[in-house]
Amino acid sequence: MSIDTNKVIECYGCGLFIAKQKKQKGKKFKCPRCNTRLLLENNHSFDSLYYAISALLLFILFNSYPLISLDVNNAHLKTTLYDTILILLEQNLFFVALIVFFTIFLAPVLNSLIIIFSFIQMHTNIRFFTNTLLHDSLVFFKHWGFIEVFIISVIVTYIKLVGMSDSTRFDIGFYIMLVYLFCLYMSNIKFEGKNVFGE
Ligand SMILES: [Zn+2]
Repeated sequence: MSIDTNKVIECYGCGLFIAKQKKQKGKKFKCPRCNTRLLLENNHSFDSLYYAISALLLFILFNSYPLISLDVNNAHLKTTLYDTILILLEQNLFFVALIVFFTIFLAPVLNSLIIIFSFIQMHTNIRFFTNTLLHDSLVFFKHWGFIEVFIISVIVTYIKLVGMSDSTRFDIGFYIMLVYLFCLYMSNIKFEGKNVFGE
């Protein structure tokens, strides 16, 4: 007799095999023999999806607001992330601009998209990419450590601008960016490749 292991769960307390139940709100799933509380699959993995979607929305939001603002010669200047990359290009720092573009624009957006696609593939029959490709690209973007680069580049820009004017201050975009980073970080922490890719 063969058993579909996706439909049973082993009790952590006594080793009894129990048929999985659909998760019901407010109802705890317990072992009928020893009363150990059991966690059902996907119990918290949806958090990752919500964080990924929030991250994408916040990404669009903070890119439409200035990160830093300052007053120079009675003129009020504002700089967005986009401007920062343009400044780097104007200073002929092409390679730096490329790294900033990749780590700040491309990699985080792709990271959130991969998480969203993984959830779509996990819960529907739609297949955009192979699981292997999704898994490999997620590992690739994780290794890039873009979150640190993200914060550092803004602080470097801030320090540069402080030298130009005393009125330099972080603007609304910067604070949205902090919330964005939190969502991006949490979507990766909560993401369980185990459930998605069957590792
Ligand atoms: Zn038990």
